[in-house]
Amino acid sequence: HAKSNGRSNFQFYTQNLDVEAKRRTTIEEELRHAIERDELYLYYQPQISLVDNQMSSIEALLRWKNPRLAMLAPDEFIALADETGLIVPIGSWVLEQACRQLRYWQQANHPELRIAVNVSSRQLEEPDFVNTVDRILRQCGVGPRYVEFEITERLLMKDNLKNNAVLRALKERGIQVSVDDFGTGFSSLSYLKHFPVDALKIDKLFIKCLPNDEHDAAIASAIIGMAHSLNLKVVAEGVETVEQRDFLRDLGCNYGQGYFFSEPVPPEKII
Ligand code: C2E
Ligand code: MG
Ligand code: MG
Ligand code: MG
Repeated sequence: HAKSNGRSNFQFYTQNLDVEAKRRTTIEEELRHAIERDELYLYYQPQISLVDNQMSSIEALLRWKNPRLAMLAPDEFIALADETGLIVPIGSWVLEQACRQLRYWQQANHPELRIAVNVSSRQLEEPDFVNTVDRILRQCGVGPRYVEFEITERLLMKDNLKNNAVLRALKERGIQVSVDDFGTGFSSLSYLKHFPVDALKIDKLFIKCLPNDEHDAAIASAIIGMAHSLNLKVVAEGVETVEQRDFLRDLGCNYGQGYFFSEPVPPEKII
């Protein structure tokens, strides 16, 4: 009995793997054509200064709507785009769209507004990444100091030396770099000493239970203190309540982002 049971479990397992593999292949195949079929678009979420409540910058967040697939979460299809390398053309598309949109807002009446764009390590590893960035910014008429790249802590750790050279090239141009999902990368802090980054984004995991959870309060406070001693700005992501906002502001956190201020929205809702 035990044996046949084990066997049917095994069949069930391989069948699931089959379904999973098929689904991945379908998604990959669809994603390959997503740009030309006009299925990608960006949502935007403001980052708010906790000092003066001004909208200082806006993060562009990728969305994908495909008629043959259910709406996919960015975490899911971006991981696949990363593995397959499709994130390279998609990432260029995102940067160009976001910069065009920023230019529009700047000309409308927010000349100092900045745009934050998520960048994958696959893009940093491309030999002509910096040239591509230069070209897109030039074509869109956006100054480098209005652009922030968000790179997750996990990815930053991957290839120290090469990433570091690219980050320096970006910094020379005045582009800002933020460490995204800070605190979740299982990393040593030593990279902060060598990497030319400008800001840390505290992962929403640590914000969620503020202000009541003592441990999270201690972690948030420690990250903010450390960041400031290193001359880095701090952004808290996932701010959902006024209590969280007030608590973070009192700790000296520079910026907040989250549903309390606004969900990610289509561009026409930003102004
Ligand atoms: P992220 O860069 O850390 O972006 C923040 C995520 O938190 C977004 O999820 C946003 O919708 C969500 N969020 C914002 N405020 C709140 C809040 O108050 N509460 C909660 N619970 N969540 C909040 P989203 O849009 O699903 O994106 C997920 C991740 O996908 C991003 O995390 C980023 O790592 C990646 N991503 C999105 N767009 C791009 C892109 O264009 N390129 C690359 N490489 N990655 C991207
Ligand atoms: Mg981000
Ligand atoms: Mg994040
Ligand atoms: Mg994230």
